[in-house]
Amino acid sequence: MPAILRGKCIIVGDSGVGKSSVCQVFHSDGAHFPKNYTMNTAVEMMVKSVNIPDTQDSVEIFMYDSAGKEIFTESVMKFWDQPSMVVVVYDVTSETSFSSCVKWLERVRSHKPDVQMPGVLLANKIDLDQRRTVSPKAGKDLAMSHNLEYFECSAKEMQNVDTAFYYLANEFHKIYQERVLLFKSLS
Ligand code: GDP
Ligand code: MG
Repeated sequence: MPAILRGKCIIVGDSGVGKSSVCQVFHSDGAHFPKNYTMNTAVEMMVKSVNIPDTQDSVEIFMYDSAGKEIFTESVMKFWDQPSMVVVVYDVTSETSFSSCVKWLERVRSHKPDVQMPGVLLANKIDLDQRRTVSPKAGKDLAMSHNLEYFECSAKEMQNVDTAFYYLANEFHKIYQERVLLFKSLS
């Protein structure tokens, strides 16, 4: 029986790192990079379905794109209730956005610390190579120490954005399969 799973994925990170761009590029199959800077006021939701290789299953990712404003965070967290996946985005040309990642992650995880939640650390804007200040090694180290998977992308060049979401969909599916097995073993 093919299963259709639904999972909430929240996208966090400082303002301007490219959260909305990443969501829109993934959502539109890399056909659309938003030309204008749009400051979303609270949260926007987009759905995208991902097929899981070697199965008939698919995962519908409900992407919650948050605005990086602190003041929205509390109400937004209530609204999100329990996310299943998290994407922490930073801009490779901004040390500040990189140092904020831990804060964003802690905020998301503190909500339900006991729940298994696959997450990625997404280094965006790698097209701005000349201005890059956060090295791949720094990114990888941070990801590893916080149990995240590290990916680099450029929403602008529509490069490698999908990979991070495919990874999450597959991890989410694995957790589901483990639960099914556990359930079967108990019954
Ligand atoms: P958000 O505030 O995190 O949602 O960031 P936005 O998606 O609104 O993007 C902020 C700015 O960064 C916009 O001007 C985007 O066009 C730009 N931007 C987003 N992704 C990239 C990227 O990969 N490369 C470059 N050069 N600019 C980007
Ligand atoms: Mg935005």
